[in-house]
Amino acid sequence: LSAHEGILRRQSLRESAARTYARSLPIVPVRARGLTIEGADGRRYLDCLSGAGTLALGHNHPVVLEAIKKVIDSGAPLHVLDLATPVKDAFTTELFATLPGRFADDARIQFCGPAGTDAVEAAFKLVRAATGRSGLLAFTGAYHGMTAGALAASGGAEDVRVTRLPFPQDYRCPFGIGGEAGARTAARWTESLLDDPKSGTPAPAGMILEPVQGEGGVNPAPDGWMRRMREITEDRSIPLIADEVQTGVGRTGAFWAVEHSGIVPDVMVLSKAIGGSLPLAVIVYRSGLDTWQPGAHAGTFRGNQLAMAAGTATLAYVRENGLAERAGVLGDRMLASLRSLAAGHPCIGDVRGRGLMIGVEVVDPETRPRGTGTEAPPDPVLALAVQQECLRRGLIVELGGRHSTVVRLLPPLTLTDEQATAVIDRLADALAAAER
Ligand code: PMP
Repeated sequence: LSAHEGILRRQSLRESAARTYARSLPIVPVRARGLTIEGADGRRYLDCLSGAGTLALGHNHPVVLEAIKKVIDSGAPLHVLDLATPVKDAFTTELFATLPGRFADDARIQFCGPAGTDAVEAAFKLVRAATGRSGLLAFTGAYHGMTAGALAASGGAEDVRVTRLPFPQDYRCPFGIGGEAGARTAARWTESLLDDPKSGTPAPAGMILEPVQGEGGVNPAPDGWMRRMREITEDRSIPLIADEVQTGVGRTGAFWAVEHSGIVPDVMVLSKAIGGSLPLAVIVYRSGLDTWQPGAHAGTFRGNQLAMAAGTATLAYVRENGLAERAGVLGDRMLASLRSLAAGHPCIGDVRGRGLMIGVEVVDPETRPRGTGTEAPPDPVLALAVQQECLRRGLIVELGGRHSTVVRLLPPLTLTDEQATAVIDRLADALAAAER
């Protein structure tokens, strides 16, 4: 066995059967820069998984490394619980400078545990404390994390992938996809559920949504549906929680994805890219919701100084270099290329996305009707084959969606035009090979 094979083998024997990426991506990364990862076997890959959408600036960006080194060289404590520090002050200032207008003027921040799911739980706790109610309204196809509350809000009853844990007075509504008409129907469903006098169910403590569902298979919510959800929640005094864990920091073509629709949520859940590749998760919310008693929310790891410094550098770099706009332009171009590829590849059932959050739905090529759409049955076996053919061609992609049939591209926002072309070319070759 080579050293590379030995590592893969030992990890596959010792690690939990639940291991995920390691199963479909048998590589051993030892070096990385920007879009590129190098394996222990010397092979190089274009990484369009980007730490599940974490790496806004790609791997090991010089400004991120510099920011981390600066904290270490300064002799500052690395572990500070939730104490005030210059590093935290700089992070909060930079983060608040990016928030949508009205929000920034009146925002509070709560540092949560290291993961996105910790911030989701904190958001639920916050709206429950503030409203005195307990139910939550979430959407089909949603993904909010793997802790109990976040898991309960994820997926739908039809999603077998997750173990559903019951919430008291749990509401599940269809996500606003299926074009404008589908979105209108979905919104009416939500409204009638909330207003049904027969149900006798009290209003939920909050509504949680992703502006673009990521793990659910790259489903962008239409702006009109987002505005309708804001009206529906505002009219009924239900706090609206926007989960921007994956969509944030420029990924969708706006700094925060809620900006596309112009809505201002009551709570924003932020993680992934805000830590510049290190673990960091926060909620920011309207100050009026800040009814927590001192100590009502705690956690040992809420003061990761390296993550805050890396995050500050990332937020500033994205803002100063217009990387959100760049992601929008490049994303449109990549979506257009992928849509024209669909003509020659009957296994492409649909191409969806916003900015650099892109999904290609893989369907059974035998049954796809003329044109794209999601009418043909999703094909999980073929989707896996596409992922493996991508890997063979040095391209790392993730699979998402209910049946793991959506090939997901989440490249860094620093992607160059040439790299974008290389990604599309390799994906096209992989599709052709998998279809054969
Ligand atoms: N919310 C969204 C929208 C996510 O995409 C994710 C992670 N993919 C989470 C929450 C959970 O984040 P974490 O894995 O860091 O707990």
